[in-house]
Amino acid sequence: MSNQDTCRSCGADIWWAITAKKKRMPVDPPGTHPEPNVPVWRDTLTGILYATPEPRPGMTVVPTTSHFATCPNAARHRRRRA
Ligand SMILES: [Zn+2]
Repeated sequence: MSNQDTCRSCGADIWWAITAKKKRMPVDPPGTHPEPNVPVWRDTLTGILYATPEPRPGMTVVPTTSHFATCPNAARHRRRRA
């Protein structure tokens, strides 16, 4: 299963990360945005990407940006259900 996807509203490359509330959140991959605000980490066993405040020890944290903040069509995005 891949965490990589394309935003249905604006076509940008995004990653899906699981938040502490077990919700899927779209984020812009590292390097997409100059001011990342969402650190995410990948579980190397399952390949699942998490956006939780406490990464498991030894996991690499990478800076991403919430796509809700950067998507030009954020309002439409939010109403749409995946
Ligand atoms: Zn978008």
